[in-house]
This record gives sequence, structure tokens and C-alpha cells, in this order.
Amino acid sequence: MASELELEMQAIDRSLLECSAEEIAGKWLQATDLTREVYQHLAHYVPKIYCRSPNPCPQKEDMVAQHVLLAPMEWYLCGEDSEFGFPKLQQANKPSHLCGRVFKVGEPTYSCRDCAVDPTCVLCMDCFLGSIHRDHRYRMTTSGGGGFCDCGDTEAWKEGPYCQKHELNTPEIEEEEDPLVHLSEDVIARSYNIFTIMFQYAVEILTWEKESELPADLEMVEKSDTYYCMLFNDEVHTYEQVIYTLQKAVNCTQKEAIGFATTVDRDGRRSVRCGDFQYCEQAKSIIVRNTSSRQTKPLKVQVMHSSLVAHQSFGLKVLSWLGSVIGYSDGLRRILCQVGLQEGPDGENSSLVDRLMLSDSKLWKGARSVYHQLFMSSLLMDLKYKKLFAVRFAKNYQQLQRDFMEDDHERAVSVTALSVQFFTAPTLARMLITEENLMTIIIKTFMDHLRHRDTQGRFQFERYTALQAFKFRRVQSLILDLKYVLISKPTEWSDDLREKFLEGFDAFLELLKCMQGMDPITRQVGQHIEMEPEWEAAFTLQMKLTHVISMMQDWCALDEKVLIEAYKKCLTVLMQCHGGFTDGEQPITLSICGHSVETIRYCVSQEKVSIHLPVSRLLAGLHVLLSKSEVAYKFPELLPLSELSPPMLIEHPLRCLVLCAQVHAGMWRRNGFSLVNQIYYYHNVKCRREMFDKDIVMLQTGVSMMDPNHFLMIMLSRFELYQIFSTPDYGKRFSSEITHKDVVQQNNTLIEEMLYLIIMLVGERFSPGVGQVNATDDIKREIIHQLSIKPMAHSELVKSLPEDENKETGMESVIEAVAHFKKPGLTGRGMYELKPECAKEFNLYFYHFSRAEQSKAEEAQRKLKRQNREDTALPPPVLPPFCPLFASLVNILQSDVMLCIMRTILQWAVEHNGYAWSESMLQRVLHLIGMALQEEKQHLENVTEEHVVTFTFTQKISKPGEAPNNSPSILAMLETLQNAPYLEVHKDMIRWILKTFNAIKKLRESSSPSPVAETEGTIMEESSRDKDKAERKRKAEIARLRREKIMAQMSEMQRHFIDENKELFQQTLELDASASAVLDNSPVVSDKTLTALGPAQTQVPEQRQFVTCILCQEEQEVKVESKAMVLAAFVQRSTVLSKDRSKFIQDPEKYDPLFMHPDLSCGTHTGSCGHIMHAHCWQRYFDSVQAKEQRRQQRLRLHTSYDVENGEFLCPLCECLSNTVIPLLLPPRKIFNRLNFSDQPNLTQWIRTISQQIKALQALGKEEGTPHTTSSKNSENMDEFQLPEGFRPDFRPKNPYSESIKEMLKTFGTATYKVGLKLHPNEEDPRVPVMCWGSCAYTIQSLERILSDEDKPLFGPLPCRLDDCLRSLTRFAAAHWTVASLSVVQGHFCKLFASLVPDDNHGDLPCILDIDMFHLLVGLVLAFPALQCQDFSGTSLGTGDLHIFRLVTMAHIIQLLLTSCTEENGMDEESPAGEEESAVLALYKTLQQCTGSALKEVPPGWHLWRNVRAGILPFLKCSALFFHYLNGVPSPPEMQVSGASHFEHLCNYLSLPSNLVSLFQENNEITKSLIESWCHNIEVKRYLEGERDAISYPRESNKLIDLPEDYSSLINQASNFSCPKSGGDKSRAPTLCLVCGTLLCSQSYCCQTELEGEDVGACTAHTYSCGSGVGIFLRVRECQVLFLAGKTKGCFYSPPYLDDYGETDQGLRRGNPLHLCQERFKKIQKLWQQHSVTEEIGHAQEANQTLVGIDWQHL
Ligand SMILES: [Zn+2]
Ligand SMILES: [Zn+2]
Ligand SMILES: [Zn+2]
Ligand SMILES: [Zn+2]
Ligand SMILES: [Zn+2]
Ligand SMILES: [Zn+2]
Ligand SMILES: [Zn+2]
Repeated sequence: MASELELEMQAIDRSLLECSAEEIAGKWLQATDLTREVYQHLAHYVPKIYCRSPNPCPQKEDMVAQHVLLAPMEWYLCGEDSEFGFPKLQQANKPSHLCGRVFKVGEPTYSCRDCAVDPTCVLCMDCFLGSIHRDHRYRMTTSGGGGFCDCGDTEAWKEGPYCQKHELNTPEIEEEEDPLVHLSEDVIARSYNIFTIMFQYAVEILTWEKESELPADLEMVEKSDTYYCMLFNDEVHTYEQVIYTLQKAVNCTQKEAIGFATTVDRDGRRSVRCGDFQYCEQAKSIIVRNTSSRQTKPLKVQVMHSSLVAHQSFGLKVLSWLGSVIGYSDGLRRILCQVGLQEGPDGENSSLVDRLMLSDSKLWKGARSVYHQLFMSSLLMDLKYKKLFAVRFAKNYQQLQRDFMEDDHERAVSVTALSVQFFTAPTLARMLITEENLMTIIIKTFMDHLRHRDTQGRFQFERYTALQAFKFRRVQSLILDLKYVLISKPTEWSDDLREKFLEGFDAFLELLKCMQGMDPITRQVGQHIEMEPEWEAAFTLQMKLTHVISMMQDWCALDEKVLIEAYKKCLTVLMQCHGGFTDGEQPITLSICGHSVETIRYCVSQEKVSIHLPVSRLLAGLHVLLSKSEVAYKFPELLPLSELSPPMLIEHPLRCLVLCAQVHAGMWRRNGFSLVNQIYYYHNVKCRREMFDKDIVMLQTGVSMMDPNHFLMIMLSRFELYQIFSTPDYGKRFSSEITHKDVVQQNNTLIEEMLYLIIMLVGERFSPGVGQVNATDDIKREIIHQLSIKPMAHSELVKSLPEDENKETGMESVIEAVAHFKKPGLTGRGMYELKPECAKEFNLYFYHFSRAEQSKAEEAQRKLKRQNREDTALPPPVLPPFCPLFASLVNILQSDVMLCIMRTILQWAVEHNGYAWSESMLQRVLHLIGMALQEEKQHLENVTEEHVVTFTFTQKISKPGEAPNNSPSILAMLETLQNAPYLEVHKDMIRWILKTFNAIKKLRESSSPSPVAETEGTIMEESSRDKDKAERKRKAEIARLRREKIMAQMSEMQRHFIDENKELFQQTLELDASASAVLDNSPVVSDKTLTALGPAQTQVPEQRQFVTCILCQEEQEVKVESKAMVLAAFVQRSTVLSKDRSKFIQDPEKYDPLFMHPDLSCGTHTGSCGHIMHAHCWQRYFDSVQAKEQRRQQRLRLHTSYDVENGEFLCPLCECLSNTVIPLLLPPRKIFNRLNFSDQPNLTQWIRTISQQIKALQALGKEEGTPHTTSSKNSENMDEFQLPEGFRPDFRPKNPYSESIKEMLKTFGTATYKVGLKLHPNEEDPRVPVMCWGSCAYTIQSLERILSDEDKPLFGPLPCRLDDCLRSLTRFAAAHWTVASLSVVQGHFCKLFASLVPDDNHGDLPCILDIDMFHLLVGLVLAFPALQCQDFSGTSLGTGDLHIFRLVTMAHIIQLLLTSCTEENGMDEESPAGEEESAVLALYKTLQQCTGSALKEVPPGWHLWRNVRAGILPFLKCSALFFHYLNGVPSPPEMQVSGASHFEHLCNYLSLPSNLVSLFQENNEITKSLIESWCHNIEVKRYLEGERDAISYPRESNKLIDLPEDYSSLINQASNFSCPKSGGDKSRAPTLCLVCGTLLCSQSYCCQTELEGEDVGACTAHTYSCGSGVGIFLRVRECQVLFLAGKTKGCFYSPPYLDDYGETDQGLRRGNPLHLCQERFKKIQKLWQQHSVTEEIGHAQEANQTLVGIDWQHL
């Protein structure tokens, strides 16, 4: 059936392909009604091409459509084949100087912080690299898709609008030329025709709403019964829901369902079933039924006729076709724009562009993005039509927003998102404001969507439903639009602009009016509130509006007329808000010190109060601007100041600040967290600029216009403190009468807060307009105070500073002036430190400090002063003068009420027992006095002849208090307090005050003849200073003595502790010692040459070794017969040394690990933390871990960082991940060493003997038909063979080890086997010993690589854990044969031996090119005892070792000669041939003979020798390490330090002649035959004939891939990467493997694969092939390093990319340019090379439990 369908398809295709474009176009050229002709063509062919089968096959469809449908149109348009026509058009075209590249998702974009007009102006990478901005301060982001490159848009850039490429295209004449002049009349007419028809067609078909009918002129004669069940995307249902439903509804597999869901999510719709109408309806109803619930709408499904779907598919094709055709010529583009914007027959809003926009929300995602793209490449690229389009957009604005509100798609796929393209273009925005009244429209539209109001017309978010909340989120995008419109400020104002801006400002005030006083709160008394009220919505609104409010002010500031108008309007609105301000209530009268004022009766703690006062705050902002303006200086009478009523202005901001104080005093505890949160945000850096800061300004405004005494009284009254300060002795009565501690505490806090507020009102003059400062002074001061807390990283600092609408803090321009930069080390971040000279500007009561910050800063600054041996007083800094409008504000400090408050509090402090007062209260008063003194001093210093200094604080505080209380003067009280013992900490400050007082007095005396009343202060101060000094000295002495005593106590305690835990400490000491140098651990041997192996091996005296168990703390000697001691160890598979990552173990059951290939493709690495335990203690520990884990898993489904089921555990001491233990052993060779009584054979003899022994064994084995086993009968039969002399194959050696050690030998062996081969443990498997030897060899090789790469000496100091690990591992591997089957080990030996000395029984062994010689060496040496133990001829084990080693070395030399590259042939000989050179040349010639002269040329001897020397070095080094650990011979001292390669020392140590080739000469008898046998191997021949490759030596170390210096090139690379599985789709989480450089599509359904029966993500799957389960990745979009191990383990690691401030940017949130930090990258590389990635993950997971819960396998 299926094939028939295919045949049919093919038949149709053939008939279609016979169509001739030329013919059809010819017909069209003749046609009278072109539209009808074209439509007929489409009606006939489109359904034949599209939707021919249930599943779309887009490539084929597109191919046919191009041929049958589009080609005729192109023909028609060009008048010839488009293959010639289009290039002609392109040539004639004068290309645009706009880049206009539309960004893909994830593509990097660049904005210049110096030159971009706003942050939405971006460049594509190509343009950026060719622009001047690459050397500026730029910001890099990844595009979310949509949007295009602004290169060439002169309005977008203050400087350098063109890159090099687009600069070429700028027209000579600035004036814009009509692009149509480059086209012929004919082409213009024809493109106009065809564009009109096709654009019309596409719009009609895409916006067609009927499901089974077509537009009349497209309807077919005969209609088939084929329908599609079309599923649409929505943002409500989850992926999982959709997948589940589809499986049910259309009977598909999960895979198919995932495929459907992915496409629906991406394109917005997908047909899920195809068939007759009934069949599709059925699926539809199931889907609808399954996805609807009470809360949610069902998924949208339509049953559509196939021909409609076909036409729609083609409609989309047409749109993208139009987009590509206009790419050939700007003229064509203009024609298309004209067609699109031409008004249709139905008048207003009937152009094609309007129609598309207005049906945007009804279209599916895919259709939207296609037409948006077309708009971008047409309308937005043509400046003339961009303007017209902008007007259409603005006219439809309200409707589009309404549609968007109903639509449930993200904004990115809505046409409303195009607003950024017009609104941020300055001239367009201005035009839209003046001509379309855009500002007002946006604000009104916004207001329309927020209908929910309270009785006073204010917004009410309290009882928002979910739907309203959802709409509220969407409506916020309108604020963004408003921000775009305002972002570029006008350079000149027309009357039109003024008018329309002010109209917009009116609308804006209406909006703020709805916010003024919203969410009012009342203090809860008695009971706690029942439900936390909704507060976030109001703050969200405030936060979103913050920049808009600031920008409104910026606009006003630019034009005085506008500013004054706006000020008046704002004032009017504020008065409306305050209508009924004083209604009803009787005013009350307040009076203190003879001043009195009337005010309203109002208590914050009893009545409604609101934090939201945007109108007041806007007015405050405008007031500051006025103060800065020229009018304020010259004609203040022109300002509408007279209309102000200061008490009304201050009332609400004051209430708000009192609320904060009361909350802090704990009076609002019952109002819950919502209030705490509101107060937090009120002060937070995101909001404070338009909230808290402006409230302070408003109060400052008020004070500067009022009698300060009046202000203070009103303030006292609002703080509810009036009683305390107006009634003499109230305080005394108060504390004695009211014993309620809470109330006392509350009042104290309120007084503190009030004093703090006064400090702020006087001291905060760093807003330009309040004080005589500029914006940089402001930002400098912020930074100084942040850095006073502690040194900070750039990003921390940025976070603490407010950002403007361009996301700038302005910090970079001033930071150099106030801070030093300290570069980061290998970890951590770069830090800014405050310059010492800036410390004097520190103000302890800086208003942006939180309480915690304030106390930290205080502590830090005092500490600094102590370090500099200065007074610890933190006096108020010298302040800039106020602006004239605010100048009178300082008088508050010397006002009577203020002095009264100060005096009262000082009085309390003097009589400190009688009153409730606090030290911080006093501290604040002292600060205020200090401020007043600073002020007076400055006045005096800046006084000019004609001015009289009116600031006379010093005089006032010298006078005693007036009757009736007759208190002493403030000064006198200060002097009293200076000696008060209970005020130690404040003494420095009081002394500073008195000193300053005297200085001012002197100033006054010198400037004015009238002397100030003499006070007794001076003398007292002098004497007290001396006294103070003495006191201080005494105190310091006492402190020193106390410290000493404490130290003594501590060390006593320590000693005690050590006594108790003696062993523990000894253990650590020992470990430390062994860490420092390896030699220290080994016995000192006399200075003769050290030899590591062979008969001449240096004999090392027996050394006893004692170790302590970390678990039971018992000490024990390591002995053969005692209980086993073990090291915690971690065995893992490794590909770190791999030279061929495509290779991995396919079938572990059949895999034979005996021979390691030289590509080292899969090894087994063993590591250890070096911590020692008793085997039985470990066993007990592990059992308990296991039991605990089982209980835990049952109880809570928690994961751990380790996998107990796989034998994993954490080292009980250091928590290092481990999965087995290695037994601790003495050098095992010594145990088996027998006396060597006979002459030792030479190599030739030895090989002969061994061959005979092997033959004997094999014969025995064959005879029995079974592997060699023990049986007494055998020994009788044995005589029949000619047994080599002294060989006793029946001999069974006795195992010397204790049961416990034997047990552990098996345990570790099995673990190595299990992990290395990933098999179930089986201790009988013959591969177990091989895996043990292999792990030993591999671990040594990887250490050798690390040492060489780092240029470290071979036997230099190693971390003790590594040293211990290698020693134990080597000795273990050497002892393991004792627990394995003897015949198995013998068998391995025979086979390994046969690879070098061939025998008849082993035919199919790898050739020497395919054997890693070091693995072979280790295998042979460690298997040899199994054979040697039966040899009683007197040949020693050492002799065997030596011969094995020499034999393998010889084979390696031949391997090297065969594979060494001989390309450097042309070079001159460096020196006359030496001994080595001629020897190697001779050997090479022999080799040439043996290979039948396949080796052609003979390279010079020195060259060969150099290659051999370099190639063999790693092997020799590994061997030295191996024999060192095996035999315990100390290393030669020369090799413990770095230096040259130590080639000679190495040879000596290894008992080799330093002329290695002489090995061949010495053993002449067998050399030839050996070489021949090696070279005759078929594989060697193939290699020599160039038919295969071989590894060449020395093998280069593996490194992680090279990363680019500039991070953006990685982003770019990743943005070009598409998911390999879903046909060209962009990958959402492109992830780079740092080991091999593969890019993967991570964390996505599309690229999940099945691994061992589980679905895993691309990364996890990749680790299995690339890193045997371990992986190091870079998540490119996040700039984050990812470590993975196995399926369950992973962690994130800090990336090796840093910005200029020495910080990483995980998540790429900040967008600073990032550059590669080589050191950090090396550190990652080292982790990898040292096999520490898994361990690192373990530690990270232990430290951060949330990492354990992540499903790493899905990445
Ligand atoms: Zn560009
Ligand atoms: Zn460009
Ligand atoms: Zn720039
Ligand atoms: Zn123990
Ligand atoms: Zn440990
Ligand atoms: Zn890889
Ligand atoms: Zn994918």
C-alpha cells in the first residue's frame, strides 16, 4: 500500500517537473487578468505539491514548488531566467548601508557602552569586529532571536555608525536617492504586479479562518476527503501533558509524540493525524477532552482540509520568497513596501501590512515569525517606508495591545515586540509623539488595562485573580514601550513637541495619581494579621516605572518652559490628591522653647498610611531641577513657589519615614512580612532613587521653606515623641513610671531614628540641585561608602549602585579616583579597595547604608584608624554647600528646638542612671553637634567682608539652658561626659568636638573683634588629654596581659588535646614528613650508584613501618602475617591518555585486556587520598554506611554524592570519594627472593631457559587437556618430559600472607576488574590479574605525563597521597599473583612472553607496533614470579627482571626505529658520528635487511639516535618509577631535582648501558632472529607499505582543546551550531566537550539517547564514548564549566573566562567582554589529567546538597 502511494507521488512529481517556467511566464505576460491566471495556476498546482502525505517532507515540497510555482514568477519578474535576471538586478543595485542582519537565537550581539544611543542598539559580530567599538567599552549578549543589526543606522550611534564593510556603501551625497532609478520601467511594472498578487495571496490564505473551505478563486473542482488534525501551541499546557495526550489520542509512540510536541512548540502547529474527516474529528475530540479542565482551556485543535493546509504552507513559502527576492535590489524592496502599505479597497486599516498586524494574535507561531522577518527585511530596512510603517503601527497601537493581552504567546512572537524598532529611533519617536501623540496613547492604553480601582480611584491589586495577574504581567510591556520612547532625549524642542510632551505628562500624572496612596496600611494591634496582603504588584509597578519617572524628569530638565509647566501641573495634581487634607479634624497647637505651630492631629500608628507617593516624589524631583536651573538663581520670583504649602508638602513623605522608624522600633510586628518587604524595597537600590531618596528631598524642600523650629515640632509630633521633649523632666517620670520595657525600648529607637533623619536632612546634599555638586560627586560618594564596608568586586559594586535606563551606573568614570584595583589569583575575583585618602569622606550616617552595613562600616573604619594609630572618632565629613533654594536648611542645626533636643539627651546621658536613654542616641547627638561645628567652621572660612556669619552654633552651645530648668550649657555637659567611665567608646568623638570647638573659637577671634565668651573648656580639655593618655596606656597594658593569659590557657588546652589524641597527631606528622621529600622516607644508602633492579640491585636494609588506623587510632606494624591495613582508593576508567577516542570497549564480556594497545585508548586509573585503616575497621565502617544509606533511601528519596550500591563511600577522614581499598604491603619481591647461588645466565641463555620452561608447561597442559592443575599423579608423569634443569612444575609455593591480607588482595583485584571492565565482580575470572597490572602501569604512565608536562623532576617531592598510592598499588599488583590461580598467571606470562619471543603455540598475537611496551613490561615482571617460583636452578628473580626489562627495551627501540619519522632528512649532521650514532645506524641497517628494504632511505645516525633517545625517555621514566616502588630502592639524588633529562642517571638506575643500542650488540646471538621475527609480522609489513598507521613516539600529552581568547567567538560558534537530530534547528543549550571539542545539543528532548536502558542527555551519552563516563564541558550560553561522572554525578565549575575586572560571568548576565584566563584553564586541565574530576564533583556535592538533586543525566 505504502509503495503504491509512493509510486503515485513519483508519477505526479514527474508530470509537475515537466512544467516550463518560461512557458507559464509567457502566458502571464500576455494575460489580461493576471490575477485570475496566477490564481488558477496556484489553485491547480499547490494542492498537488503540498500535503501529499501524512508527514510533511519539506525538502521535496520546496524543490517542486520552486520549479512549478516560484520559477514562473521569477521569470515573469525578470523577463528571463532568474539565474541571469537576479544577478543583473544585484549588479545594478546600490546596496544599502544598513546591515539589518536578523539575529538567530543565541547569536552574540554587541552594544557599545560609549557610543550606542541606547542599549537596544546592537551590532552583529561581523560588523562589530569591523567597527571602532571593538576598542571601546562594549557589552556582549546573546540574542533571544528577532531584532537585527543596527550597523549603518546613524541614529543609533553617537559615533562610528558604520563598520568597515558598510562604510563602503554610504552614498557620496547625503541625500537619499530613490532606489527605483536603478530599475527599468518594465521590471518596475512587472514586479509591482507580481508582488501585489502574491503578497495579497499570502495574506489572504494565512488569515483565512474557515477550516474546510478555500477562498472562491482557489477552490478546486473535485475535492478529496483528506483532512488534517492540526494541533496548536499554547503556553498553558506542559510538554509532558501534550506528549501524554497525543499518545492516547492518535495512538503514537512516545518518540513520535515527543516529535509532535517539539514541532508544535517550535512552529506553533503540527498535524498529528491525517485521514478522512471522521478520523480526524475523533482524534480532535479525544485531545480536547483530555486537556480541558475547570481551570484551563483545552488545547487548540482544528480539523482542516488538506488543500487549505497546502495553500497555507505555500503562503509561508511566498513570504520568505518575497524576502529573498527583495534582497537582490533595494528597488524591489521599495516596490514591495509600497505594495504592502497601499491602502486596500476597504479603506482605513486595509493595507496588507495592517491586515497581517491585526491578525497577528490569531496566527500560529511559525506564520508570525515568517512575516515578522519579512517586515524586518523590507519595511524596516527602507527608511522612507519605515516611517510610514511606524505611523501604521502607532495608529493600530491600541488594538494591537488589546490583541496581545488576549493572546497567550510570549511577547517575543508578538508583533507588538516590533515597537523597539521604531520607538528607540530618535527622529521616529519624536515624530510619533508630535504627530500621533504616542506618549499619551501608550499611557492611556496602559491605564485602560488596569481597571481595578478602589473608591478613591487608586489602583487596587489586593484581590487580583490569576487572570488579572496574568494580564498585569503582560501589560507591563507597555511601560517598556514608554521607556523606549523616552530613552533618547530631544536636543531641541518645537512648540509641537512641548505641547504633546506636556499632554503626555498630564496622562502620566493621571497614572501616578492612581498610585498615590495605593495599598494603604493600618497598624495591627492585638492580633497578628490573618493574611499577608498582596503588595508585590504595586511594587512591581513602581519598579517598572522607576526609570520612566526619572526620564520624565530628565526631559523636563532640558527645557525651562516645560519644566515650569510640568512643575505647576504636578503641584496641581498633588493638591488634588490632598483634597480634604485638613478636613474635619481640629488643628492642634504645639509649642516648645517659646515657638509654637499648628498642625493636624494625625498618628501614623493609628491611621492609614501608604508607602506609595509617586506624585509627591515627582514634585520633589522637579523641585530639585528647578533649584538647579538658571531661573532659580536669577528670577526665583518666576517660580510657582508661593503656591506651596510646606506643611502639606512634607506631610506624606514624613509619615512614610515615620512608618519606617516605627517598623524598625518593632511597633508593626503584627502586620507580618509583607510590610517588612515593602520597607526593604523602599530603601533598596532598585527603588530608592524614586522613593526613599525623593522623600528626603521633599523634607529638605519643606525645611528650607519653613521655620526650622516649626518643622522640628511637627516632626516630633509625627514621631509621637512630642510629649517627651516638650515636657520638662518628662523623661525622668517616663522611665520611673512606666516600667514596661518594650515601650521604653520603642521610644528609644524612635528617638534614634528621628535624630538619624535630621542627620540625613542636613547631610545629604549630593544630589545636584540640593547641594552644589555634580553627578560624579554623587556616584563617587556612593562608591566610597560601599568600599568603606569592605573591598568589593566590580559586579558587587555595580549591584549596590542604581542603574539608569541604559543600565549604566557611571561607576567606571570615577572608580579610578577613589579606589585601587587588586587583581585576582587562581581563584576568587578582582577587588576594588578604597584609597586611604578617601576615608576622610566617610560618613557613618550615610543614608543608603542598611543597618548591617552601617555597623560593618563603622567597625571597619575604626579598625583602620586603630591600625594607623589615629583617634578612632568618626567625625562627620566636610560637606559641599547647599544650593540657594536649600541654603536655609542648615539653620535647623542651631534652631532652639534642636538645641533643646540635644540638651535633653545630653542631660539624660550625664545623669545616666535616672533615665531611659541609649548610647546610639548619644552618638547621633554627638554627630549632629559635629555637623554643626563643621558647618560653622566652613562658614567662617568662606566668609567675605560684607557678610556676617549668621551661623553661631558655638555661641549657642556655650550658653546655659534657660529657666525654669537651668541646665548647664551643652558644652559643659560634653566636658562632663568626656570623663564618664561608662562612655569609653565615645570619648574620641567628644574630644574631637571639643578640639573643633576651640579651633572655631580661634577662627572667630581672628576674624571678628568681638570675643566670644570665654569658657573653661580649654584647660579642662588639655588636662584631660594627658589623663586620657595615661589611662589609655594602662588599659593597653591590661589588655596585653589578658591576651597573654588567654594564649597560655589555649596552648595548655591544646597540649591536653594532643595527649588525648596522640596517634592522630603522629599520623599527621608522619604524613607531613613524607610529603616533603620522598627520600626522607627511605633509608639512607651510601653514595654508591643506586640500581633499582637486577642482580646488582642496591640492597636496602629492612625497615619497619608503623601506621595508625584513622578509625580506631590503633597503631600497627605492616607485616606479612599481621592483619591487613588498607588505603581508601578510587578506581576509575580513564581515557585521559587516549590517542584514539573513537575506540571504547564494545563487549566487555569478550574483551581481552592482556595487551594494551599503544593508543592507550582505555585504561584503569587508581587514586587514593592516602588515609590508612584496618581492613576490619574499614569493613565495619562500610557496612554501617551501607545500612544507613538503605534506611535513608527508604525514608526519604534522597540522593547522596556517592553510590553505595556500587561500592562507593567517602573516606572517613577527608570525605574523598572512594570505591575500594588497597592493602598496604612490604616490598613483595623480598619475600620470594631466593639465594642466587649459581652464575646468572646472560640474556640469550635466559631466553632459552624460559622458552624451555614454557614449552614444558605447555606440553603438560596439552597432555592433560586441561590447564595445568595440581595433582600428585602429574609429578610421576613429569619425568617423561625433558624438564629443564631445576624446573619443578609440580611445586606449589606457600602463600606467605595472612588471611586478612589475602582477602584484601582479592577485594582490590576484583574492584579493579569490576570498574575497569564494567562487569559483575568475579574473582575467578582470569582477567583479574591482568586488570591489576594494567591499572598499575596506567597510573604510573599518567603520573609520568603530568610530571613531564610540568617540567618536574621524576623523583621530586610528591604529595604524600600520590606517593603512598603508587607504592601500595605497585606492591599490591606484584603480590596479587599469590591469590590468583598459578596456571592462569603462568598462562598470561607465556602469552606476553610470546609476543616478543615467538613460540609455536601462540600464533595470533599483536605485532610489536600494536603493543604498549610499558604495559607489557609491567605484565611480564609481575607475572614472572609465578614461573620463577618453580625454578630451582638458581636463577634469581632479579636476573629475570633485568632480562625482561632489557628484552622489552630492545623491542621498544625497534618499535621506535620503525615508527620514527624521517622527514628532517635534509638537515646537516651536527657533529661527527659518536659511538651511539654509529651503533644505531648499524642497527637501522640490520632492520632494513630484515624488512626487505621496505625502509628506504637511511637517515643520518645522529638523527636516529636523537629520535630513539627522545622516544624512549617516557618509557624509561615509567620503568624507573615502577622499579622504585616495586623494590624500594631510593632514587638517585640527581633525579630529585629538575634539570636536564637525566638520561644517563636514568640508565644507571635501571641497570642499562647509556648507549642503549649496545644491548643489541651484547646479545648478538639472538638479536638478528628476534628482529626478524618482529619484522616478519604481516602488520609490520602493512605499516611499512603505508597501508596502515601506527602510533609514533614520544606520544604527545593529551590536553584539553584550545579555547579562543575572546569568549564571543565561542558564542558565535555555538550559535551556528544546530541540533544534529532535529533538522537544522538551533540548539538551546549548545555545550562544548573540552576534551575533544565536539559541540553537543544538551539538556533537550531532541538529543536524548538510550544508555543502558535509561534516557540520557547528549552530554552524558558523550561522556561514555569520549571519557569513559567522565566529562568536562563548557555550557556556552551560560559560560559555565560542567563536570559529569557517571549518570548521577555532576557539578558546575567556575569557567576559565574572566572580564576585565577579574570576574567570571556565569549565566552571561553582565555581558562584559570575557577573555580566557590561561592559569584557570590550566587548573581545569590539571584536574582532568590528575583524574580528580570525580573527586572534585564529590567535594562540590558534599558542600552543596542541592547539586545532588539535579538530574545530571539529562544534560
Ligand atoms: Zn551587521
Ligand atoms: Zn556593518
Ligand atoms: Zn563605541
Ligand atoms: Zn582500626
Ligand atoms: Zn582520606
Ligand atoms: Zn568529547
Ligand atoms: Zn538536539
